[in-house]
Amino acid sequence: MSAVEIVEVGPRDGYQGIGPFIPTERKIALLEQLAAAGLKRIEIGSFVSASALPQMRDTADVLAACARMPGVDPQVLVPSERRGRDAVAAGARHLVFVLSVSEAHNRNNVRRAPDESAGEYERLLAAVPADTRIRLDLATAFDCPFEGRIPEDKALALLERLVAAKPDAEICLCDTTGRADPAHVASLFARARAAFPQAEAWALHAHDTYGLGLANVHAAYREGVTVFDASFAGLGGCPFAPGATGNVATEDLAWMFARMGVATGLDLDALVAVARDGAEIPGGLPGGRVRAALSTGGGVCAPTT
Ligand code: ZN
Repeated sequence: MSAVEIVEVGPRDGYQGIGPFIPTERKIALLEQLAAAGLKRIEIGSFVSASALPQMRDTADVLAACARMPGVDPQVLVPSERRGRDAVAAGARHLVFVLSVSEAHNRNNVRRAPDESAGEYERLLAAVPADTRIRLDLATAFDCPFEGRIPEDKALALLERLVAAKPDAEICLCDTTGRADPAHVASLFARARAAFPQAEAWALHAHDTYGLGLANVHAAYREGVTVFDASFAGLGGCPFAPGATGNVATEDLAWMFARMGVATGLDLDALVAVARDGAEIPGGLPGGRVRAALSTGGGVCAPTT
């Protein structure tokens, strides 16, 4: 059992902003490499409008291929009850429902007010089989591209209704823009965990736009958070969050926790190999540091200082 769980979200958050369509066979081959590196939970895509996010149009096919990958727990992102039903009909057993704390971002992302999305969440819970695993992604929990810093009270107030709908869901607080800082991350997680001790688990979805991704992960870890989203090769960028670059890189997280002696269950060499392949995807915007450091003999120059 790992001390922390790294959830690979590159195949969803990393790919969705990439213009050239990544062939389904390539997506499946990369998933097999990610699984071989020890990643178990992988966000393999989303059930959303194919016209809004054409890169995600083959999610049902990718999901079907996961049935041939033992040990992989594929989760798929859905923004509504209808898309959640579609995902379940396609065989999904693990759903991620996303809504934003920020009204402007939620309207831009899913064309609804946050309260309307909360209603969608309640209807989704009633519509899917009772043993469907549910994760709740609270986007713009810290900061919004349109509204700026989000008051903690606003995030907690929305959680009140959402936690009541399913007290044992896993809750992921998302730094959609990458503008959260470690003090903010620590403060919101401390307040949220104290207010909702019944939540099954807490997760952080960090972006590395301003270089604070790892610092934010560490701050959340110090607050007792044990689940972290990351994207191999640091791929990503939100098409609805202008200027946001990729998630914190999976291999950077694996490196940090390995140095700290915290088990992740991941094979760093295998991760760096798949990250190198991910960085080559046409149209992708790779990030992170460890991939380059471990690809050039450790990144140590001589004479060292
Ligand atoms: Zn994201």
